[in-house]
Amino acid sequence: MANSDTPALCSVEEFLKHDYDFIVVGGGTAGLTVAARLTENADIKVGVLEAGTASIGDPMIMTPALYPKIIGDPKYDWIHRSVPQVR
Ligand SMILES: Cc1cc2nc3c(=O)[nH]c(=O)nc-3n(C[C@H](O)[C@H](O)[C@H](O)COP(=O)(O)OP(=O)(O)OC[C@H]3O[C@@H](n4cnc5c(N)ncnc54)[C@H](O)[C@@H]3O)c2cc1C
Repeated sequence: MANSDTPALCSVEEFLKHDYDFIVVGGGTAGLTVAARLTENADIKVGVLEAGTASIGDPMIMTPALYPKIIGDPKYDWIHRSVPQVR
């Protein structure tokens, strides 16, 4: 997460140059909520690891209005499948 000496988004190489008090695995809803709450204490340094290739600067990721276009694209979407659920 954002800190005075680290960028908010960075490569794995940059990530590994720093020390963290907590590392959150998975930058989804729960992971980012936990990370954001932890960083409310400015003395705590938190790193978030997200799966997949780095997409820093990719407009498909950085432009919120483009999110419908990434759904179903395996470059960005896990494309998890499900089956009809038994009631
Ligand atoms: C199409 C769609 C629309 C939705 N719309 C809404 C809505 O409008 N409102 C709403 O409230 N909810 C909505 N939901 C549901 C909501 O997105 C989920 O309930 C919520 O994101 C679950 O949060 P989570 O933290 O459990 O999982 P996620 O948000 O899925 O986070 C898990 C994260 O972990 C990462 N990850 C997985 N494996 C690894 C690994 N090995 N290493 C590192 N990272 C890993 C994943 O890439 C992901 O970023 C929607 C879901 C879908 C699929």
